[in-house]
Amino acid sequence: MRVYNFSPGPSALPLAVLEKAASEIQDVNGTGQSVMEMSHRSKDYKPIFEKTESLLRELMGIPANYKVLFLQGGASLQFAMVPLNLAAGDAPGQGKKAAYIDTGIWAEKAAKEASKYAAVDVRASSKDKAYTYIPDAPPAQSGDAYYHITLNNTIVGTKWDKIPNTGSVPLISDISSCILSEPIDVSKFGILYAGAQKNLGPAGTTVVIIRDDLIGHAPAWTPVMLRYDTHASEGSMYNTPPCYGIYIIGLVLEWLKNLGGVEAMAKLNREKANMFYSYLDSSKVFYSPVEKPFRSLMNIPFVTMADDDAKKTEQETRFVKEAAAAGLVNLAGHRLVGGMRASIYNAMPIDGVKALINFMDKFVK
Ligand SMILES: *Cc1c(COP(=O)(O)O)cnc(C)c1O
Repeated sequence: MRVYNFSPGPSALPLAVLEKAASEIQDVNGTGQSVMEMSHRSKDYKPIFEKTESLLRELMGIPANYKVLFLQGGASLQFAMVPLNLAAGDAPGQGKKAAYIDTGIWAEKAAKEASKYAAVDVRASSKDKAYTYIPDAPPAQSGDAYYHITLNNTIVGTKWDKIPNTGSVPLISDISSCILSEPIDVSKFGILYAGAQKNLGPAGTTVVIIRDDLIGHAPAWTPVMLRYDTHASEGSMYNTPPCYGIYIIGLVLEWLKNLGGVEAMAKLNREKANMFYSYLDSSKVFYSPVEKPFRSLMNIPFVTMADDDAKKTEQETRFVKEAAAAGLVNLAGHRLVGGMRASIYNAMPIDGVKALINFMDKFVK
């Protein structure tokens, strides 16, 4: 039996995608081969790769002066690739200034990794209130190589309600947990990157969308695999790309297009999230710790109101366990923040959210 899977990542995929992949696992497009078995440079694989890229371009409205790269190493490797390619100096330790806004654990990790290659300047942080809001974004400064934000904060459940205007300084964002959940104006960004395992497909593929003028600035000492120009000039085929993951992303994009595209998905996502937040806001037992204007559509942490810590922990542990027994799995909060968290990515049907609310009602009683 399939469960409702609220995992923050890797997370649920649309059933239709899994069924299609299963039907093609031994023989895709009459080639007599699995996608896992074919050369990435073959005429059989080419249309699979091209379909994924063109659907992503179409669904996100990616302008022609941006490259789409399919890489490996997760969003975490982009924490290093961004500064290496945009800010690193002629010798290690001589990097240019780079602005970071600290809105959560991933944003903080990005800044920490970048500080090895760039002169990182954390311009604002919401750490003072356990990351439950998005701070005002100070203006970019002259001399900034780039300005980095994390559009949706997966662990604490916040998202930027408006995109900062950084003028001529390239705005870079980690969009791992919100890609394709709502429309994004790509032209406002220099680079967007996302690990696939939340809204796109299986773990192992990282999508990087990069404006042409930001390619080709890595210093000579940058490892070849960590240079954007290496991958851009070879169409993501400098070495073997994550072929199967790219194929599954293509199936997910096809599913999304059939649903009506990103606008239609966003409408559904708002409906799902509003339903759940309304329930939390009216509950006498559960609440959302996140300030209203900054609430994520994708990741919704919640806690119980018990005033004594031991009781709270007991209630929350019991909640996660009983929910799992009822077919609602992976609801534990991140190990660093505790409580519960429902990740309701694109693939989570509205019936899953309704089932969770019903379960919570029963739990309260
Ligand atoms: C999951 C996640 C990451 C980590 O991604 P990896 O692919 O595991 O490196 C980074 N940033 C955000 C916002 C995430 O949600």
